[in-house]
Amino acid sequence: MKFINVSESVWICQDSQYYLVNSVCVNLGSELLFVDTGINSLVAQKFRKKMHKVFNQEKAILTLTHANNDHFIGLEAFMDLPVIVSDKFMLPFHNRVKSMEIKKFKSFVPTKTYSSSIIFGSEGGSLTFTLTGGHTDDSCYGYYPAEKILIAGDNIITDMSQFFLHPDSNLQKYIKCLKSWKKLDIETIIPGHGNITNPAHISKVLTYFERLNDFLIQAKKSDLQIHEILKHKDLPKYFEPDPNNWIRKGIEQIYRNLNVS
Ligand SMILES: [Zn+2]
Repeated sequence: MKFINVSESVWICQDSQYYLVNSVCVNLGSELLFVDTGINSLVAQKFRKKMHKVFNQEKAILTLTHANNDHFIGLEAFMDLPVIVSDKFMLPFHNRVKSMEIKKFKSFVPTKTYSSSIIFGSEGGSLTFTLTGGHTDDSCYGYYPAEKILIAGDNIITDMSQFFLHPDSNLQKYIKCLKSWKKLDIETIIPGHGNITNPAHISKVLTYFERLNDFLIQAKKSDLQIHEILKHKDLPKYFEPDPNNWIRKGIEQIYRNLNVS
């Protein structure tokens, strides 16, 4: 576990115990905004304690980029704070809590929900969260213009492959989200997992997804079978290591569900 100082107002907690999952703290001046909790509430507690001290600020709130367990299991360390999530968060959250039998979160109710976007903080120190879908249907990202920082959630993962094999992963929504980021003034990207990166990474992922999307549509129109597309010479290759075959499994799922009629 590492605490990394990203900028004047932003720190991350990166946990090597689970695919370098990142949680974030932004000092908005009026309060601290924590984003995601990581997978370990003791680590989250340490991170929180340090952030209150570093920024000399007791007031804090929490938001979550999406309802995957690696981003909310540390929630226990933040239960005394206001928790604000998108209105698509609670259904997958309850499903996960139920399937994993996490009793401590069964009665969790967020303080507030938002439908498409929300602004945290006030002028000068404001940070916007926007619901886009992509990695999951409830995936959101944060943008902090004062320091040109994007908090990407799992719609950007570095040092390993993208992960688009959830039942609600959506390639079209990914592409739309990545395109919208190209219009923002961004210098630093905090990925859901992996090390800090820069906007060139967005372009590389976007190019890959657009090529993949075009290829899969053509393949479907030509009635190719999954085993044929996986060894096809025109299948685009991803540029990061993929030891767990997330890309192949994701492609198989997208192709099965693809409808070009
Ligand atoms: Zn994740």
